[in-house]
Amino acid sequence: MTVFLVGAGPGDPGLITVRGLDLIRRADVLVLDRLAGDQLPLEARADCLQIDAGKAPGRVAMTQAAINACLVEHGRTGALVVRLKGGDPFVFGRGSEEAEALRHAGIDYEVVPGISSSIAAPAAAGIPVTHRGLSTHVTIVTGHEDPAKPETQTDWAALARAGGTLVVLMGVGRLARIAEALINAGRAPETPVGIVEHGTLPTQRVTTGTLATIADVAAEAGVGSPAVTIIGDVVAVRDQIGWTERLPLAGRVLAVTRARAQADGLTRRLTDLGAKVISAPTILTVPLATEPIDAGSYDLVVVTSPNTPALLLAAIGGDARVLHGAELAAIGPGTAAALREVGLVADLVSERAVAEALLERLADRVAGKRVLIARAEEARDLLPDGLTHAGALVDVIALYRTEYAVPVGDGPLAADAVTFTSASTVRALVAAYPERDLSGLAGISIGPVTSAAMRELGVGIALEADEHDLDGLVAAVLELLS
Ligand code: SAH
Repeated sequence: MTVFLVGAGPGDPGLITVRGLDLIRRADVLVLDRLAGDQLPLEARADCLQIDAGKAPGRVAMTQAAINACLVEHGRTGALVVRLKGGDPFVFGRGSEEAEALRHAGIDYEVVPGISSSIAAPAAAGIPVTHRGLSTHVTIVTGHEDPAKPETQTDWAALARAGGTLVVLMGVGRLARIAEALINAGRAPETPVGIVEHGTLPTQRVTTGTLATIADVAAEAGVGSPAVTIIGDVVAVRDQIGWTERLPLAGRVLAVTRARAQADGLTRRLTDLGAKVISAPTILTVPLATEPIDAGSYDLVVVTSPNTPALLLAAIGGDARVLHGAELAAIGPGTAAALREVGLVADLVSERAVAEALLERLADRVAGKRVLIARAEEARDLLPDGLTHAGALVDVIALYRTEYAVPVGDGPLAADAVTFTSASTVRALVAAYPERDLSGLAGISIGPVTSAAMRELGVGIALEADEHDLDGLVAAVLELLS
């Protein structure tokens, strides 16, 4: 097999090449870059070995030598290795050094070009890097080289004289000195400058100024990396042809909570309306092997989520009669309904599906009782601690573990609105952020059942769709945000 040096594109997962995506889906080994994004790796096979070269254990990035060695090592095994790199692998990506290392080791490789942030971030901000009559050439330069240092390999004075468009990568920290060097070499202080942070991503932001002002403007705005700086008259063209602002959901960030495969239709429609879409966590329930439990010896069995009843029944040997002597308590109506599905009726149900609510109901009646709590591995200890405190003898059994089908970060919670298309998407979001107060969330619900789950779990509802389908949901998003 071969090692593939694949460009991931500038950030938006929709901007990878068809060949690049196909290779990710077939990869045995995926070696990731810090700028490769967190969505594309989700396309890999479940058994694909993923190596995060940008954030190795201990959170220190792997050295280039270690990455080269890693590619050679896995390339030798005959595995299909994909080295996924932000933008284009050969534009300041050190992809050429990786190619050299592979050539040196006698391992075949192929380069799959990517859309470089150097042209994509300006384009996504409405800035053309060339424009007839304004700029006939564009220079892509690293801002890593400090113009103030004598050993710099970049001839900033020559770049200033050459005019045209200058696109600076990796230069946010050195903006003041770069601007000063260009002005000193004769570039007009009023030359327009634009900075595009997080180009093509939901968090994209554009800051503009002139060569004379940009360092101060950027400092004021708190501009951070990754960002591309565009210097030249083309920056002003944005005022005429910038299109993103004209779409009804321009500048809006929406979190979509559907399972990935189903999300695409909704994601596509929101994206077409100008929104940036973040995938919110959806949940996989992974059953855990348990020791046989003597469930008949408990006075009270507490079931904590709709996932638990079926797994509990399996853990006690499939015969519900074992529980005949125990009272059954369920967190929330959803859990009670799941109990009924396996032929069990809860004696006590909390109205809201949170541990606090059930604890309140149970605290004054469990003293001296033997209590079994059946729950998820990662559940909070509020219930066992609270019941123990109330005098109960508590055993806990972890029946399953939840895994998130999308990485959990704060992105979805910071979105302008979060769409919910079913009660299970509500539960997934709540499970992903157990410690967070979600009552202030601008949730958009597809219909009454979903809204009921949101109320029960304390998730904020900004709007419920009039028509309970995707059209209705999109209409609700437009009503709320356009
Ligand atoms: N090979 C990459 C560049 C790697 S160097 C490419 O072709 O895009 C890393 C630099 O790229 C960052 O410091 C930043 O200047 C730029 N960059 C990468 N992704 C970006 C993005 N989404 N928005 C703005 N700049 C980005």
